[in-house]
Amino acid sequence: MVTTVKCRHCGKDFEADAEERTVFCPHCEKETPTASFQTSRPFVAAQLDHAKSRMTGCADCGAPMSRRALWCPACGSIQRSLFGLLWTIAATWGLVWLVFGVLGWLILKLIEAAGAAW
Ligand SMILES: [Zn+2]
Ligand SMILES: [Zn+2]
Repeated sequence: MVTTVKCRHCGKDFEADAEERTVFCPHCEKETPTASFQTSRPFVAAQLDHAKSRMTGCADCGAPMSRRALWCPACGSIQRSLFGLLWTIAATWGLVWLVFGVLGWLILKLIEAAGAAW
């Protein structure tokens, strides 16, 4: 596959084989990375950062564990306070009840409207 490469040294565009990591610029004859290589590297780095951000270390033993884990799989130490856990549950249930409340109210209004139409 042929791709357009912008030379890192002189800034001029030229065509080169995209399979190659680096090519020699025909204008200044210096080695420059191809576009596919220039774009693929930050992408891989971003993926690695993303994978890392989902993992954290145990506060007690330092073993790698998921950020979402409530306790350490290595030593069993609780990683979140009970209050934090209860708050999460309360917030989740609050949201569920809010959604169901609004839905229930809408359905009630629809039934009322249907009843009025009849
Ligand atoms: Zn060049
Ligand atoms: Zn641990």
